[in-house]
Amino acid sequence: MTASAYTLLADEALTLDERRTTYSPAAVAIEGDSISYVGPPTRETSGTVIRLDGCVLLPGLIDAHTHTPMWLFRGLTEDVPRGEWLPRRMRPLEALVGPRELRAGALAGCLELMTNGVTTIADRYNDMGEVAGAIEESGLRAVVAHSLYDRDAERGLRETEALLERFGADPARSRVWAGLGPHATDTCGPDLLRRVAALAERSGGRVFIHLAQAEAEVAAVRARGSAGCAAYLDELGLLGPTVVVAHGTYLTDGEADLVGGRGTAVAHCPSSNAKIEGRVAPVGRMRRAGAVVGLGTDAACCNNGMDLFAEMRTAGLVNKVAADDPAAFPAEVLLRMATTEAAAALGIAHLVGSLETGKRADVIAVDRRVPHLLPWHDPVANIVYAARPSDVSAVFVDGRPLVLDRRPVGLDAERILADGTQAARALAPLAVGG
Ligand SMILES: [Zn+2]
Repeated sequence: MTASAYTLLADEALTLDERRTTYSPAAVAIEGDSISYVGPPTRETSGTVIRLDGCVLLPGLIDAHTHTPMWLFRGLTEDVPRGEWLPRRMRPLEALVGPRELRAGALAGCLELMTNGVTTIADRYNDMGEVAGAIEESGLRAVVAHSLYDRDAERGLRETEALLERFGADPARSRVWAGLGPHATDTCGPDLLRRVAALAERSGGRVFIHLAQAEAEVAAVRARGSAGCAAYLDELGLLGPTVVVAHGTYLTDGEADLVGGRGTAVAHCPSSNAKIEGRVAPVGRMRRAGAVVGLGTDAACCNNGMDLFAEMRTAGLVNKVAADDPAAFPAEVLLRMATTEAAAALGIAHLVGSLETGKRADVIAVDRRVPHLLPWHDPVANIVYAARPSDVSAVFVDGRPLVLDRRPVGLDAERILADGTQAARALAPLAVGG
């Protein structure tokens, strides 16, 4: 690693540390991959000074559930009747693309995420051996997992072992690290999940699984004799702080209490749940019971953009409606679900999620000099309810600039978008009117 140093000078910093410290004006000094100073600007600056006039500095946003290769499918699964999205629409699309297309889609997806102010992703999909190369190339921080299914369990487990071998499972040692990605509770039977639990135990990797994301999943699990999807995971020892369950859309109240009671990490994807299922997951109930919740964008064809500002806002709105309580899910909780609490969900709160000396330098700058962000009475509410990805002017991951002046640094955006669009041509037969 090249040990570079930067001093970022901005109008303000929201550190999101435990004391909710803010500085105005603010300086963040970066040495190598870490933050060496956060506070008011001083006379002494080290390294390259980057003036971010008009900007507020924040910890980089953390996307607790996404599938970057599915960038390819944006706009191909619109207004689908409940129950048809995965079996009738996604599966035929997925059959048309191979590892090369998925890699091109993943790189375009990473480009979208980073220019939207996302610095860490939990990504899982098919052909992750190939896809992880694109994620690594992008410069994002990421945990990667290969999707495991009963139908292809042996090959999937080999891919998973290879990812663990290649990247390790320790986020402190590698910017890209590996987890285990059993697909869902209906597509993974008890034998496969027992092997997943054993491999997780042996490797220290986290488990990422879709939970109760569709009615058919719930029906299939009940038909196998379990009381429900959450009870099924619990019987196999797969609820708890090192398991990240996505969605939970069809959990009963009792199951939501069980998931929370085990301290399980939950990836809440409100736009995706609304668009694909017409539902709000019982995330308020899971969180009250003890779940650690991070927000996820899910895939580009679920919502239809990988935009955590939109997810914060949507999470606030739909959960206020679901709770019949406009005071539910205050803005700071929503911002933490995209930063500090998301970091805790992914087991990386000791590394990222807040701007503090010694943490990794994952920093974003949001330019406040736009009509929709002024006046600046309530910085947190402005970020959660009014900010847009286009307001992100700078992004650093591990102390390395990935975006400056709203432009990606070190990635050829034009080529990446051309390659991604070319790869998506394979899907033309299933496009609208195709
Ligand atoms: Zn998903």
